[in-house]
Amino acid sequence: MGGAVRDNTIETELIEMLSDKFPGIEVEAIHSERWDRMSVSFRWSGFADLLPEERFQRLVGVIPESFRATRLAGFIWLELCPGESIDDFLKHPRSEDVAEREGEIYRRLDEAGFFAGLKKSLGRSPQKSCTGGFTKVAEALLAAKWTADAVRDAKLVFIRHGAYCDCQVVETVAAALKESYAD
Ligand SMILES: [Zn+2]
Repeated sequence: MGGAVRDNTIETELIEMLSDKFPGIEVEAIHSERWDRMSVSFRWSGFADLLPEERFQRLVGVIPESFRATRLAGFIWLELCPGESIDDFLKHPRSEDVAEREGEIYRRLDEAGFFAGLKKSLGRSPQKSCTGGFTKVAEALLAAKWTADAVRDAKLVFIRHGAYCDCQVVETVAAALKESYAD
């Protein structure tokens, strides 16, 4: 009998690496029949309000590149919330999904005075006041009555430009978008 190939050693090492920042995280490293490859799933309650790319970014901030390149090469990564199935997870939108609407989303943000407002709310030292996520981005857009889907699309545009938090939006993405889309 083939049985599932499970790698308990990798699981233990990852849990040791991650437990401080991701309390209660569960890790499973197992052969996936779906992809016919090894997969590693990270299940954590704190992922609930984060998009898959944000979840991934948080993890790679802690799991060293050397470990990823040697021990996790070729693995499928799944970043799940408690109770979330792989099918549910795969339905979340990704930053590439907003590529064609990016200019439209940028103009809507710009017209709403979003970038100036975010800059102001982060103050003189954006990095210091940043929480490491899109806290102030979401607050500003929800206060401006944007729908949850529209807020999500804005985050996806920022992620597409390599930003995963409030200060990066102000410091890098605002200028890059302006360059591409301002008339
Ligand atoms: Zn930041």
